[in-house]
Parts: sequence; C-alpha cells; structure tokens
Amino acid sequence: MPGRNFLFIPGPTNIPERVRRAMNVPLEDHRRIDYPQSVLPLFEDLKKVFGTQDGKVFIFPSSGTGGWEAAITNTLSPGDRVLHARYGQFCHLWAEMCRRLGLDIEVLECEWGTGIPLDQYREILAADRAHAIKAVLVTHNETATGVTSDIQAVRHILDELRHPALLYVDGVSSIGCIEFKMDQWGVDLAVAGSQKGFMLPTGLGIVGVSQKALAAGKTATLRRAYFEFQDMLKMNEGGWFPYTPAMTLIHGLRESINMLLEEGLPNVYARHHRFGEAVRRGVAAWGLALCAKHPRWYSDTVTTICVPDGVDSAKVVNHAYQRYNLSLGAGLAQLAGKVFRIGHLGDLNEIMVLSALAGTEMALRDCGVEITLGSGVAAAQVFLRSTFPA
Ligand SMILES: *Cc1c(COP(=O)(O)O)cnc(C)c1O
Repeated sequence: MPGRNFLFIPGPTNIPERVRRAMNVPLEDHRRIDYPQSVLPLFEDLKKVFGTQDGKVFIFPSSGTGGWEAAITNTLSPGDRVLHARYGQFCHLWAEMCRRLGLDIEVLECEWGTGIPLDQYREILAADRAHAIKAVLVTHNETATGVTSDIQAVRHILDELRHPALLYVDGVSSIGCIEFKMDQWGVDLAVAGSQKGFMLPTGLGIVGVSQKALAAGKTATLRRAYFEFQDMLKMNEGGWFPYTPAMTLIHGLRESINMLLEEGLPNVYARHHRFGEAVRRGVAAWGLALCAKHPRWYSDTVTTICVPDGVDSAKVVNHAYQRYNLSLGAGLAQLAGKVFRIGHLGDLNEIMVLSALAGTEMALRDCGVEITLGSGVAAAQVFLRSTFPA
C-alpha cells in the first residue's frame, strides 16, 4: 500500500523522527565510567515532566502495567484496604491487579463516561476514622472512555479529612500531554509508560514516587523483587541501574524529553487541549455523541465517540484500517461495538489532526453513518485557524 499508516489510537503513538534517530545507536556498556553523566541529568529532566522536585522517578523496563505493579507492591501489605472506582477498562484492569495481589479493594462502580466520584470518595474516606484505607487510586485519564478526572480535588478531600492514605495516580495516557503536578497535587505514586505522551516504543514503565511513598515502602510487605524501589534508589543515586537498563529506549527518552522541554510544557498542554477541542468540534459537527458525559471530563488526549444504534463500531475501525490505512481505537469491554476512539496525543500537528477527521468521515459514511462529508473537518479547521498560538 503506498503512503503510510495514520496512527490515531491512543497509544502507541507516533514516534518523532528525532526520537527514532536518537535510538539508532549501537549498544554500549552500561557500566562504563561516564554512563552516569547522561543518566543523572535525565532523571532531573524527567522529574520536571512529572512536576516533582521532592520525589524520585524510576525507569523500569516494562510497560505501564508493570508501573502499576511497582507502585502497589512497593508500598502496600497483603490485606491492606484500597479505594478505587471503575469507570472504564483501565480502571478495571488496575483494580483486578490489586485483587490478584491480595489487597482488600473496594471498587465503586460508576457509569462509563463519568470520572472519579468525588462525593463518594469523600463519604467513604470521612467514615474511615480508623484510617484503615491505605491507598486511594485514581485513573487520571481513562483511555477507554476519553475521561479526565480532577486529581487535585481528590488531594483536597484527603487534606480536608486529614486522611493519611497514599494517593496513586495512573497517568499513563496523561503525563507528558496534559498538566500533571505531582508535588502540588500531593500524588504519592504516579505511573506513566513510554508509548503514549513520551512518543517512544513500548518498553518503559516510569513511576514517580513521593518521599512519603518511599517511607511507606519500609514497612510494606507485599512480595516484590524485580520492581524493588530500594534497589533502584540505591543505584540511581550514582547514575546506575540494578540491572541492564533499556538503554536504547533511554536514548529515545532523552530526546523526547528534550522535545517536550524545548516546546515548553505549558505549550505542550495547550497544544493537546487545542487538538482535543478541534476533534470534539468535528464530532459535534457530525452530530455524534461523546462517551464522556460532561465537559468537565473531556480528555485532551483521546476522544471516545458513540456510533448510532444499529452500527457496529468495530466495523468502522476495521474498515478505516483496511480501506484508508487509518488506525482508530476500538471500543473496549462493555463499549465494544458501541464506540470508537481517536487518539490525539504525542507528536501531532494541525494537518495530522485534520487527516484523522477526514479519514474517519469517509469510514463512517462507508459504514452507513449519515454524516455530512467535510463537516467535521471544516469545524476543526475553523477552530484551529482561529486559535493558532501567537
Ligand atoms: C495504556 C494504558 C495502560 C496500560 O499500559 P501498558 O503500557 O499497555 O501496560 C494503563 N493505563 C492507562 C490509562 C493507559 O492508557
């Protein structure tokens, strides 16, 4: 097929040419005397992306799921009470991991398309006077539904109640794309992966850890070995790793962080917001509904779009791929067949966003959805032209 694949799933995302080149290097000795000279500044810059000065950020060879496991096993003990809410497939998978690891997890069932149920969290935490709840989990950006939740609001609740539970945040599809302030929001464990906002291949689980979480680790007895924070901590201090680091990916990470910092994090966030809004304007022009139930939850990294009754969204996704070489995200779990997703995170510019809308319009029409060709593209064009940054 001539041309190229248009990758608009919410991760893996496009790898910028600069990052790809930075990874095209021979393998090297990870114990050579000057290796720390490149590693130590990388940790400092990575902390900027997480919004932490006080905490540590660890780089594990794994995917985001490994980051979840590292965060949990390093800080909790079997039977510890955990509060979480299920409003999408990634919430579900993290909850399932906690259950398998032997935690006493309370999962609040929420309608998919909504975000963190703040009132319920407040009620449950307020009733927990004995502070039996050790962990509060929040999926910052639910990639299945296109919903972003307010982490700061959860921190306010914990502070207001003086509840000492650790705050765990899944930021796999938000960190490096939308605002994330680990220290300011009092996030104790922040999990990211390499193949979304960091614009890299899959293969790194990146975990931000507060001093409070490191201290909690001293008495946490869940089994862990490969993901032991203390091993990482000791070696990272000198610029080393406890086992062979994913050096090639770390070269890519260096370059992707260079790109994020050159653009400026506030500009990166503004760009994601602008593209998210352009896609939403396009969807509104088609007359289709978003899965996200309220504007306060709209995600700037992924938009989940409902197809009309009688249309199978999986067919739209397959058709877009087979006919137009456009990769859209499928509906997951209970949303299978009902929604499709456009990922708009990472290395993107205006015309790329418009290409996704144009291809989606054709695929929708081919699959019998009565939208007006060009309507979504035009709405996005109008918005993008009128909001070009100065
Ligand atoms: C992609 C994703 C994950 C899973 O990460 P993997 O790298 O696939 O293990 C977890 N949480 C969210 C919110 C995600 O988007």
